[in-house]
Amino acid sequence: MTQISSILKQTHFSHADLVLLLKTSGEEQKQLFQFASDVKKAEVGNKVYFRGLIEYSNICAKDCFYCGVRKSNKDFHRYSLTDEEVFQAAQSAYDQGFSSMVIQSGQRNDKVFVNKIEKLIQSIKKIGDGALGLTLSCGEQSLETYKRWFDAGAHRYLLRIETSNEQLYSKIHPQNKKHNFQKRIQSLSDLKTSGYQVGTGVMIGLPFQTYEDLANDLLFFERLDIDMAGMGPYIEHKQTPLYQYKELLLPLQERFQLSLKMVALLRILMKDINIAATTAMQTIDPEGREKALMVGANVIMPNLTPLKYREEYLLYEDKPCIDEEADTCKNCLEARIHRTGSSVGYHEWGDSLHFKRKQSALD
Ligand code: SAM
Repeated sequence: MTQISSILKQTHFSHADLVLLLKTSGEEQKQLFQFASDVKKAEVGNKVYFRGLIEYSNICAKDCFYCGVRKSNKDFHRYSLTDEEVFQAAQSAYDQGFSSMVIQSGQRNDKVFVNKIEKLIQSIKKIGDGALGLTLSCGEQSLETYKRWFDAGAHRYLLRIETSNEQLYSKIHPQNKKHNFQKRIQSLSDLKTSGYQVGTGVMIGLPFQTYEDLANDLLFFERLDIDMAGMGPYIEHKQTPLYQYKELLLPLQERFQLSLKMVALLRILMKDINIAATTAMQTIDPEGREKALMVGANVIMPNLTPLKYREEYLLYEDKPCIDEEADTCKNCLEARIHRTGSSVGYHEWGDSLHFKRKQSALD
C-alpha cells in the first residue's frame, strides 16, 4: 500500500497529512481524485444542483487588493440591475427548472441597499409560491440585516473568508475597519445565528500563500462546521494593487490543479456539505467546472445576469461566459454534466445534507 492510500484510509487528517496530499502529483494525485470521487458518490450522490446567479451590482464600498470591482477602480461603469431585470432572471431560472438562485453583489451597507435586497428577496419568493431557493452573497452586514434578509426568505449565504491566515488576510486587504479579519469571522458566526446554511471559501494561489496556509484553510472549514463551500483559483487583475506580485504566482495550470486538490480534500474531510464548481475554475480550463464535479463538487452557478452587465462584473481577467446567453450556457452545461456521469437535480433545492443532518439532530 502506498503512503497516500494509507493516509486516505484514515478517519482524521493532521495538518501534515493535508500538506502532503496538497503536494501530490501524477499517480498519487489521481489516487486522491479517485478517492474523493468515490466519497462524493457514496455520500451526496451524483446529482448536480444549479443555482442561477445574478450579479446584482458592481457598486462596492470595499477596496480589496485583488478584486476588479474594488471601490478605487475608476476605470469602468458601475451598475445595479433594475427590479424588473432581477425578477425576469429569477423567472427564467424558475422556468428552466433551476429551483435556486444566488444574488451576489458588491458590498454596500446603506439603508437603501439593505431595503432593496429585502424587497428583491420578497419578490423572488413570490415566483411559483416560494418555489425558488435563495442564496445571498452580499458581503458583511449587521446581524440585524442578516436576520431581516433571512426573514424575507433567503436561506443560504456565501461569505468567503478569502484566507484563514490573518497575516495573509491583512496583506491582501487595506488596514482599516472595513477590511477586518475578525469582523469577517464575526459575520460568519452571525450568519449561523440567523439560521442560514453558511458557506465560505478561499482563493487558491494567492501571492504569499503557502501549502501550509491551504491546509489550515481546510481545517478552518472543518472547525467552523460549514454547510457549503465555494473556492477557486486567484486570478490576477491588472487594475488591482495585488497585480504587482504577479511574478510570485504559480502558473495558472498549477493554481488550477491545486484548486482541484482543495475541492477533493474538502469533500473527503466534510463528506456531506455542498461544494460549488466555481466560475474561476472555468476561466483557467474550459472544462474546469466539470473537472471540479468529478473530484467532489456538486453545485454549479449558471450566470443569469443580463449580458449587457457581464463585462462590468469583471472580478478578474478573462472571466468566461460574458458573451453567452444564459440559455446557451444552460444547454451546454447540461451536456457537459452528463459527460461527467452526473445528472442535474432540476426542480430540487439540493440543500446541504450536512445542514439538514445538524437540524434534525436538534429536533
Ligand atoms: N461582496 C461579496 C463578498 O465580499 O463576499 C460578494 C462579491 S465578491 C466580488 C465575490 C468573491 O469574488 C470574493 O469572495 C472573492 O473570493 C472573489 N474574487 C474577487 N477577486 C478575485 C480574483 N482576482 N480572483 C479570484 N476570485 C476573486
